[in-house]
Amino acid sequence: TEALSSRDPELFKSITDELGRQRHEIELIASENIVSAAVMEAQGSVMTNKYAEGYPGRRYYGGCQFVDVAENLAIERACQLFGCSFANVQPNSGSQANQGVYTALLQPGDTILGMSLDAGGHLTHGAKPNQSGKWFNAIQYGVRQQDLEIDYDQIAALTAEHKPKMIIAGGSAIPRVIDFAKMREIADSVGAYLLADVAHFAGLIAAGHYPSPFPHAHIATTTTHKTLRGPRGGMILTNDEDIAKKVNSAIFPGIQGGPLMHVIAAKAVAFGEALRPEFKTYQAQVIKNAQALADELMKGGLDIVTGGTDCHLMLVDLRPKGVKGNATEKALGRAHITCNKNGIPFDTEKPTITSGVRLGTPAGTTRGFGEAEFRQIGRWIVQVVDGLAANGEDGNDAVETAVKAEVEALCKRFPIYPGL
Ligand code: PLP
Repeated sequence: TEALSSRDPELFKSITDELGRQRHEIELIASENIVSAAVMEAQGSVMTNKYAEGYPGRRYYGGCQFVDVAENLAIERACQLFGCSFANVQPNSGSQANQGVYTALLQPGDTILGMSLDAGGHLTHGAKPNQSGKWFNAIQYGVRQQDLEIDYDQIAALTAEHKPKMIIAGGSAIPRVIDFAKMREIADSVGAYLLADVAHFAGLIAAGHYPSPFPHAHIATTTTHKTLRGPRGGMILTNDEDIAKKVNSAIFPGIQGGPLMHVIAAKAVAFGEALRPEFKTYQAQVIKNAQALADELMKGGLDIVTGGTDCHLMLVDLRPKGVKGNATEKALGRAHITCNKNGIPFDTEKPTITSGVRLGTPAGTTRGFGEAEFRQIGRWIVQVVDGLAANGEDGNDAVETAVKAEVEALCKRFPIYPGL
């Protein structure tokens, strides 16, 4: 019963400091969000104590009657959100969801075709340092030089040449809508599975503001913590009964043991929230905000990869200002604006330096920012970047200090977790 604050003051301080950081800084990391207090309550619940290997009604442990209720709610709500008949809500992360799909449908040595990390794909789509790039013959596609959009002709050519067993659509830095129908057509030309990893777009899809991967994809994976605004975790979806059976065996006992029942409970809460009408309004605002931010940055002399965005994220090409991604991430951090450096397509800088930053609006929109606020944020970003351009890596201290004060004032007007 002893409170964390007295039981472990050192650890408690790290949490209160992190709460303070989230309260007082503008979060522009595209893969992050701010979950509701209800989601956190479920995740911090007694369900963390429970072993529940297996699936609802078919567990390897006794006493699972109540965690079964939670997992069934998560499954039913996920199927309703994404218009599919099957959901496995046990993957501990987006990476494990993908690993689960590979375990279900592939053999080591099989050929897979995914988007390269440099072009906007994810590590788990066949990148060299990832298991997916070591255990499979991973071929990678990219974007077109002329407009930096997904190169479907290259996907078709690589598919004809390498006959992959699986093609992976999706990634972590794709600002434009993916043509799932076209990718299925290409997959069908060689009888390949189409996996849609919609981790970044899941919330937009659930709200009807981004095309669904179904009926085109054989199978879809997602994280639950990005636009979907749930706890950190993963999920696998399909309409194919045979694939569904293989997925269940692949997750448990294939690659995981006891499911994180407290996280699954929190997933159920988040999915319930995502079924409400407010979630549709929220996601529409996420996109409007991203477009307003992109527009303001372009007005300020920065380039946006593909000239804008259809979703919650954008890739800012910093080259017009002659500054680097790593220095920009640091300078914005000093002004209490958090983002991540990110390679842009055909970037000639190393991944530790980069010519870009990736920005997203899901977290800011959750705390209530609209287009006016995001336009203001865009102007602050331009000021900080101009400071870097004029003064080198140290930036302009006066500008950064002034922006930081304005950022903190804005954050105060849009408080988060008032009860904590
Ligand atoms: N897939 C995509 C497209 C992602 O963007 C991410 C996360 O960044 C993942 C998978 C992996 O998710 P996690 O970090 O939960 O393993």
